[in-house]
Amino acid sequence: MKPHFFDYTPDQVVKEITAAGFKSYRSKQLYQWVFSRGITQLADMSNLPQPFRTWVQAHYSLELPRILHISTSIDGTRKYLLGLQDNSAIEMVIIPAGDKHTLCISSQVGCARNCQFCATASLGLKRNLHPHEILGQIYLARQQLGDKRLTNLVFMGMGEPLDNYDNLIISIRNLQHEAMFAFSPRRITVSTCGVVPKIYDLAASGLKVKLAVSLNAAVPGKREKLMPVTLSYPLEELKKALLEFRRQTSYRITFEYVMIKNFNMGNDDLKAIRRFAGDISCKINLIPWNEVPHLPYTSPNADDIETFRKKLERLSAAITLRKSRGSDIEAACGQLAGKYQQNKIPSLEE
Ligand code: SF4
Repeated sequence: MKPHFFDYTPDQVVKEITAAGFKSYRSKQLYQWVFSRGITQLADMSNLPQPFRTWVQAHYSLELPRILHISTSIDGTRKYLLGLQDNSAIEMVIIPAGDKHTLCISSQVGCARNCQFCATASLGLKRNLHPHEILGQIYLARQQLGDKRLTNLVFMGMGEPLDNYDNLIISIRNLQHEAMFAFSPRRITVSTCGVVPKIYDLAASGLKVKLAVSLNAAVPGKREKLMPVTLSYPLEELKKALLEFRRQTSYRITFEYVMIKNFNMGNDDLKAIRRFAGDISCKINLIPWNEVPHLPYTSPNADDIETFRKKLERLSAAITLRKSRGSDIEAACGQLAGKYQQNKIPSLEE
């Protein structure tokens, strides 16, 4: 299999191009075609001489993930099921809000972290995504958006991004590279369930990126039940890592808190959140639980949500209430891929 163009940095590509006897400016032209003009067909790159095109064709793949299925919500959220070369399926979601568009992407096929509220967890971990499979989602999303701009990017789809650390770092570097996706660091958020050693690594990497932590419970026993990662990395250790991340970067931490009725919305939960996050410069995103069939949890109603939000507001952190987007299209990550695995959804390819 040919290596993929997106897996390389422009510096690496220019070295290979010049080593093969072509002028270095050919590399710049190639990047302009692919990233400024959105063209991946070598035949359409009219100012590139045929011998160079033939060489690129022989050395790099420019293939993108295939769109297998698209579900569109009444709120405009679009969920894509994407097929990879080995026939694995992953999901990405485009979420519009006014003239902004956020893309939620996957970092692994499945996930090993087994969070009890998550549809992806039931798939288990199949494999890590390569950088080009991560970046391919963004390239594809831009194509899908046409004239509209992709404004924000969140690693919040299938998989734990910090469990695919090396490929995540390559992807983020290429995402931010001027010649490639030129994405601003403050528009990229990596969301983790709390893989403490890798939070330290990310903080020390020098890479600018925002961090979100899927908190969901701050009462230790409850979080252990909901998120087994807590057994390896307890909340106190997570907090120390977050304070270090905050020290090394200029960005506030975001906590994601999925509200589950009769589970994590009581007074003990509020106290625990205050204790855990009260002295961290942070933002808390409250997200109503998106029902997933076969999981034993319940969505809160509007009153439950409002009561919880008001009580939590006494905390100094900025509280945002995130609407459940795309709840009519099974937008909870992993639902569509799970059905695909069981041959329960028709594919666009069929
Ligand atoms: S919530 Fe994230 S880390 Fe947890 S199982 Fe799901 S995909 Fe993995």
